[in-house]
Amino acid sequence: MKIKLDYALHKNELVHISQVVNGLDCNCYCPNIKCNSKLIARKGTVNKHHFSHYQTDECAGAYESLLHLMAKDILKNKKEIVLPGLQFHDDIYDQSIVYISNTKRVKADSVRLEVSQGDFQPDVVMEFGKKELFVEVAVTHFIDQEKIKKIEKKDVSVLEIDLSDFRNGFDKQDLIEAVIDSTDNKSWIYNSLEDSLIRNYLANKKIEKENKEYYDKALEKAKNDKRIKSRINGYRIIKTKNYYSICCPKIIAEGANKFQSNEIIEKLRKGSRWNGIIYGHTGQSRYVFIDKDKYEIFPSDKNNNLSPIETSQKRKIYGQLSRLKGQAALDFEECEKCIYFNGYIEDKEEFVCKFKK
Ligand SMILES: [Zn+2]
Repeated sequence: MKIKLDYALHKNELVHISQVVNGLDCNCYCPNIKCNSKLIARKGTVNKHHFSHYQTDECAGAYESLLHLMAKDILKNKKEIVLPGLQFHDDIYDQSIVYISNTKRVKADSVRLEVSQGDFQPDVVMEFGKKELFVEVAVTHFIDQEKIKKIEKKDVSVLEIDLSDFRNGFDKQDLIEAVIDSTDNKSWIYNSLEDSLIRNYLANKKIEKENKEYYDKALEKAKNDKRIKSRINGYRIIKTKNYYSICCPKIIAEGANKFQSNEIIEKLRKGSRWNGIIYGHTGQSRYVFIDKDKYEIFPSDKNNNLSPIETSQKRKIYGQLSRLKGQAALDFEECEKCIYFNGYIEDKEEFVCKFKK
């Protein structure tokens, strides 16, 4: 079945049947360049308005030529296109097809049609600064191997737009959508960035893999550490995300130097050991062990024989130790980098930093 033409060439421009006068006065020609016969506008009252060949038979390529011309026209007028992402079969890391570039809408500085490129002629040349993109519009004839070889030699990206869905007629708005916005019907015949995109992809994958291995190992180590280092000679190991930290006595001593002095702060300054734990619950008495001696630092509200001043002083110590606790938690693995590090004290499978006094 031949499709009735509702567009024709008028002074080398595509015009819709609605834009021209009836009959031969429309001054229109067949869009098939090989035919280019005079057309007559048939705008009667019975049939849908259309063009037909005047003195020749309806030619076979008219509709396909029209579709071609229309698609190129759309690109020339809109000067933009949505490029599909570029796929790559990753058989090294993911064993799957991955995208190495994303879908992207691009605006061209200029669009030229049918410009010869030496030994071949792309349908459309879109220019982006100094970069060019060739666009091929395919309805029934798709790009062949010979043309692909020529393209590769030129090293300019070539995109093919498949319009075979419109073989039996088109609505202009749908065609605009297919040419400009859609990506399902577009494929890269050649992409000049492909090599470097693959290289980048593989390099990133390599780093990703190495990082994953590193973190998996660190996590595994942390899990093992948890079993043997939950308490080290009474020093609490504090679990942060994947790492463990210890209340370092040296850091506690240094931190204590910044606080207003009192009995407990004085002991800590001199290197007495505190395991970083404040015992007791809110509302009740809170206490700590310093060198295994128990000290109350937050008297309970009940059974309190202390004067208001003494109570307030003790509560101040509670505040100081709470702050010290936060400062003294450090990454256990950092001990070896500490200037006070003096080796570990090993005790069974546990060990604790033997800091320099
Ligand atoms: Zn024709």
